[in-house]
Amino acid sequence: MYRTHTCGELRLSDVNKTVTLSGWIQRVRNLGGMTFIDLRDRYGITQLVVNGEEEDELNQQVKALGREYVVQVEGKVAERSSKNNKIPTGDIEILLDSLKVLNSADLPPFTIEDETDGGEELRMKYRYLDLRRNPVRKALELRHRMALEVRKYLNDQHFIEIETPVLMKSTPEGARDFVVPSRMNLGQFYALPQSPQVFKQLLMVGGFDRYFQIVKCFRDEDLRADRQPEFTQIDCEMSFVEQEDVLNTFEGMTKHLFKMIREVEFEGDFPRMPYADAMNYYGTDKPDIRFGMRFVDLTENASNKGFRVFDDAEYVGAICAEGCAGYSRKELDQLTDFVRKPQVGAKGLVYVKYNDDGSFKTSVDKFFSQDDFKAWCDLCGAKPGDLLLILAGARKNTLTALGELRLEMGNRLGLRDKNKFAPLWVVDFPLLEWDEDSKRFYAMHHPFTSPKEEDVELLDSDPGAVRANAYDLVINGVEIGGGSIRIHNDLLQQKMFKVLGFTEEEAEKQFGFLMNAFKYGAPPHGGVAFGFDRWVSLFAGVDSIREVIAFPKNNAGRDIMNDAPSSISKEQLDELGIAIKDHE
Ligand code: ASP
Repeated sequence: MYRTHTCGELRLSDVNKTVTLSGWIQRVRNLGGMTFIDLRDRYGITQLVVNGEEEDELNQQVKALGREYVVQVEGKVAERSSKNNKIPTGDIEILLDSLKVLNSADLPPFTIEDETDGGEELRMKYRYLDLRRNPVRKALELRHRMALEVRKYLNDQHFIEIETPVLMKSTPEGARDFVVPSRMNLGQFYALPQSPQVFKQLLMVGGFDRYFQIVKCFRDEDLRADRQPEFTQIDCEMSFVEQEDVLNTFEGMTKHLFKMIREVEFEGDFPRMPYADAMNYYGTDKPDIRFGMRFVDLTENASNKGFRVFDDAEYVGAICAEGCAGYSRKELDQLTDFVRKPQVGAKGLVYVKYNDDGSFKTSVDKFFSQDDFKAWCDLCGAKPGDLLLILAGARKNTLTALGELRLEMGNRLGLRDKNKFAPLWVVDFPLLEWDEDSKRFYAMHHPFTSPKEEDVELLDSDPGAVRANAYDLVINGVEIGGGSIRIHNDLLQQKMFKVLGFTEEEAEKQFGFLMNAFKYGAPPHGGVAFGFDRWVSLFAGVDSIREVIAFPKNNAGRDIMNDAPSSISKEQLDELGIAIKDHE
């Protein structure tokens, strides 16, 4: 038997027991005649003690130990004289009788400590060592507990988990597919699912009125910081539901997770915000509502006073930073630099300091009167001591830039506390999004999303104005999930494909199977999918989803541990009838 107990288990009540433990050597310290060894496993650390007076075999063995050696030890549990209240086993130690090295270890390339000296690249290359570190282990344990709670909750609500294929036909969800060549069908390809969207809809046609799946999805996108080419969704679908039913069910699941995992309980319903308000007041479809600082539209008030920047602008918008009237020249310059960054994209920043004595100090004194500034401040609800920050320009870009500035001010003012949670449903998304480059509409969510009944007639006359039965769950400015009520009528679905620019043949070729299924009694249905990795990272309080994935890929989509993707042999290519074109 390798162990009678784990390294996190023994307490004062176990004193005098003879025990066997197995684990990794965390640290060996020789302190004047005594040697202390920290033995580690998944469950914790236990201190082992060897009396080092004698040069016996045990002492020889201990001297030969290195970091991360795997050992089995036997000894007696004893009360410690100097207790360590930082660890649960800190009251006891093991007086060692014998030690057996189960495996030696090369010196690890970084320290296996909570704060390691290894950079991310190194940690990813040796991820199996990184996994031994507490923060990574805890993140994966959290992930496991969350998955378990999701399954419990949904099971209680009569959802059943059904697996769907990984090798499938391409379905657009707005990203590029990963494709897999078929040897048995030369020249043909499977696509890896961007999500199980069509399958879950077909399951509804199949009568499984409540489906879910914790499932890998694949999107061949250029990777931004918080993206992975493969990621995990909690994918769900329900029949005989309206938007209200879906929101209520998954608000319930969200509350359950918060309660069980973070011990956070919310009073009342999550707030809901129409997409149009989110854009107008926060400049984003995922507002962080842990703090206010909503935009105020100053376009009418600020133009026609001879200040060209405002006069020429389609939109002039302000935020009020409470208590910031004392900002120095340097701080204001930093903010100006911030809004000018290419990712933010504003040309400049106008400020109005509302001084404590009721006067105003601004960067545009020449063009406006003190009364003008007072009027702006009143519109923004500003008080003496506050600072207005104003951006102007093309409407869409300016709203986006102001949204970035708002978040920056939120950070500076400490308003984005990681331990405070502000969930929000964003609803009434537009059905379609116009793309200027290709001069066509794209589905804002995906092509199966149903228009609001009252907007259906606009599909012909003003498609851009049609609102969808689509919704996102946003927590702390992070999009945690999204879904929609689906089209379940083959004629409306055909029409949607047409608006999206598919010819009848193309639609038939790509989606014939779905429209065909809809001819056999498709129930009204709708669903949602949550980004599981992101949700775990939110609960873990870490910034990157890589921290909550056991074996993540880097920003170039590479697994640097096993060096994937990699070339395949000429034989494999021949079998697939594939030749690689010359490439750099
Ligand atoms: N399949 C959608 C997505 O992955 C979610 C949904 O509509 O249920 O975003």
